[in-house]
Amino acid sequence: MEYYPKLTMIDKTVFKDKKAKYFTLGCKLNFSETATIERQLQEAGIRTARAGEIADICVINSCAVTQEAEKKCRQVIHKLIRQNPGAFVVVTGCYAQLSAERLSKEEGVDVVLGIDKKGEVLEHLGRLEKHTECGEWFAQPTKDVRNFVHSCSRGDRTRYFLKVQDGCDYFCTYCTIPFARGRSRNPFISELVEKARMAADEGGKEIVITGVNIGDFGKSTGESFTSLVKELDGVDGILRYRISSIEPNLLTDEIIDYVAKSRSFMPHFHIPLQAGSDEVLKLMHRRYETALFAAKIAKVREVMPDAFIGVDVIVGTRGESEELFEQAYEFIKGLDISQLHVFSYSERPGTKALKIEGAVSPAEKHRRSKLLIALSEEKRIAFYERFVGKEAVVLFEKPRSGMPIGGFTDNYIRVEMPHDKCFVNRLVQVRLGGFNEDKSALTVTEVIGFADMAESKTSFS
Ligand code: SF4
Repeated sequence: MEYYPKLTMIDKTVFKDKKAKYFTLGCKLNFSETATIERQLQEAGIRTARAGEIADICVINSCAVTQEAEKKCRQVIHKLIRQNPGAFVVVTGCYAQLSAERLSKEEGVDVVLGIDKKGEVLEHLGRLEKHTECGEWFAQPTKDVRNFVHSCSRGDRTRYFLKVQDGCDYFCTYCTIPFARGRSRNPFISELVEKARMAADEGGKEIVITGVNIGDFGKSTGESFTSLVKELDGVDGILRYRISSIEPNLLTDEIIDYVAKSRSFMPHFHIPLQAGSDEVLKLMHRRYETALFAAKIAKVREVMPDAFIGVDVIVGTRGESEELFEQAYEFIKGLDISQLHVFSYSERPGTKALKIEGAVSPAEKHRRSKLLIALSEEKRIAFYERFVGKEAVVLFEKPRSGMPIGGFTDNYIRVEMPHDKCFVNRLVQVRLGGFNEDKSALTVTEVIGFADMAESKTSFS
């Protein structure tokens, strides 16, 4: 599988017996890209270090979504350098793109690679000679970044993550992603179908479609996200697709209707709302109002009553007064959704949001966040409860040692049962029981049989 440049110019003898450690911060897309880097290095002969081993190379894929993420990235760099003395250290990702020069001056860092160089880690390892002064950095201004770095990887889980799109042209006022990842771009559908086929040939059964603003797919190739969905649905061997996150204004009724009757697209949506009041949505420069969002949820429910719907919300953005938060809370409470992903607003240099009046104190952000997390838990538990006693098809993942085996139903309910390795990476028809001890998953009362060859979607009975 060729996700990256050929290794013709690289002296692979340097990598003999070398071990690497990887650390990822941030979004699913970053995790997917790290897995691709790992695979690239493995194919050049660099083994992934086992727990407790000292690595020769450390790769950090950074995030810049919040101040906290940047701070954590610097902490991780220092920790990895302490734990792996003498290791060659590479930092890439969004924080690397935005602060390449600064990061190259962090003690022990050898190479910093901007967003368009993520696929070139191997080329920049050179002869693994550590830099005595500060490190080198390679990043071009984000506005000039136009290339698409492919990524389709399994990582250490059963699911594959297929990157279909990168960058964003939306420029929401609070967000740094367009400054770090550049303009919206995508490869041709035919290239992505090929990658899905390769994943199937390797035994992959489930693919999560990832990107920054995936509903925007097609801008650079004159295609559409709907066409991509239809073409991927036709790839033999892939039994399940999940759409990682899609802007509500780009989630068309056509996509929703297609997913409802498709062979392999799961009844599972992740839709960012970000704010539950029209006033705050306007301040954020989001491209929809709450009425449109509510209509999308109603449409999904009309054609897929059992679908899992996850929703992102940011609390404490500038301009979100107490009254507007109350309004948002009531709006979200009234939505028929399955779970919330709650984020606290973080001030980011260079964003337009900094010009908005009405900063919210950290204590108030914390209070709002707690309220929404509690609401999310109520909604998730109520959603799970609906399926206790019903039959479902679960794709089980490789468990960590000593842990129960776990997986997800087609509509994204987490399921656990005692470990049995014959279920790993298999679609298994089960009867769902009650909650596990910490209520994070449902248990299994009966294993009915394997369902890999059958329809992967469940009709709950
Ligand atoms: S849609 Fe808005 S929040 Fe999402 S990546 Fe683009 S600018 Fe950021």
